[in-house]
Amino acid sequence: MIEKNYKEDFPLLQTNKTIYIDNAATAQKPAVVIEAEKRFYEESNANPLRGFYPLSLAATEAYEDARKVVRDFIHADSEKEIIFTRNTTESLNLVAYSYACSHLKAGDEIAVSIMEHHSNILPWQMAARMTGATVRYLNCEKDGTLTDETLAAGINEKTKLVAIGQVSNVLGCVNPIKKISKLAHAVGAVIVVDAAQSAPHMPIDVKDLDADFLAFSGHKLMGPMGIGVLYGKEALLEEMPPFMTGGEMIQSVTTEGAVWAELPHKFEAGTVNAAGAAGLAAAISYINKIGFETIEQRELELTRHAMEGLAKIPHVHVIGSEDPANHTGIVAFTIDNVHPHDVSEIMAADGIDVRAGHHCAQPLLTYLKVYNTTRASFMFYNTIEEIDAFVETVANVRRRMG
Ligand code: PLP
Repeated sequence: MIEKNYKEDFPLLQTNKTIYIDNAATAQKPAVVIEAEKRFYEESNANPLRGFYPLSLAATEAYEDARKVVRDFIHADSEKEIIFTRNTTESLNLVAYSYACSHLKAGDEIAVSIMEHHSNILPWQMAARMTGATVRYLNCEKDGTLTDETLAAGINEKTKLVAIGQVSNVLGCVNPIKKISKLAHAVGAVIVVDAAQSAPHMPIDVKDLDADFLAFSGHKLMGPMGIGVLYGKEALLEEMPPFMTGGEMIQSVTTEGAVWAELPHKFEAGTVNAAGAAGLAAAISYINKIGFETIEQRELELTRHAMEGLAKIPHVHVIGSEDPANHTGIVAFTIDNVHPHDVSEIMAADGIDVRAGHHCAQPLLTYLKVYNTTRASFMFYNTIEEIDAFVETVANVRRRMG
């Protein structure tokens, strides 16, 4: 496979010969993204949505055009349903503070899968504390499967909100969002989808998923840091109170109160990250140019190659599914008697960037009794040669530990 060298599109990967396989933490940025952000500041910089002079109108246009690109990327009906935030974490907190805190009460349940990132757990614990609702965890099998029995018991007549990642940032497994949204809606609950780890790797259609809310971060899909997205169904967003208040999100203010701005601006208080939005739009255009078919095929091949290599090394255990197709480029593993921090230091000495620790998913790792792992995560721009170097270093870790 690997006919085209995509690394040529990434300035950092040209000047720095590091083997970057920590993509689930953040992805590298292609030149087109860096250029788009730079272009905004060089050609359109003014405070968007505030001025009537040409520069401010240009800034507003760049920002609102980016919103349309995001709308099309996730197949939303309207740009009113696309809220720009800082990242997935902020998007999920927005739903927790605005929706959950105004809709839940004592006796209600929030169903959260055990495999969630802390960003999709802590906002629900907070909402539960504030409303008297209870967080109910949906435990998964070792490979990440949420069984029908687990889903049926966990999503019941008390459930008012289901929070679930489309792809686990540790196991890499893909959760059946369509099926879970049907179960949630059947009991009158809303479903909040954390798409931080899916948006960079697979097409998303919010209508097909019937997601009520869906969150992702720009930086994980090769866009800039500091720009994220919350999709919400228009009818839900309409009746929700603002999350933050201040400039930009009002129509009028008196000494007594305010009339909120129309969607989506009601949820975008303060000066927005227009340059980041322009960069995110460039990242999405870049993804569209390559196509998810190519991205998925390349990432599967890289993952398969890595898992086949690791399977031959004694004392190495990959966690999650045995099927590379259910890893979405994420391969977390342990090496008997070696702490992942030592593994990642040895990797770093060989110029290989991986993540070590609990990956902000402590409840999952505690539940699986693994506690810490080393995680490699691939993007289509990685190469088979890089995977070979990674596997070779893993093979030598125990010997190098003495
Ligand atoms: N959800 C998942 C599944 C993630 O992997 C991450 C980041 O690693 C987040 C949420 C939080 O993303 P951010 O830090 O960009 O808000």
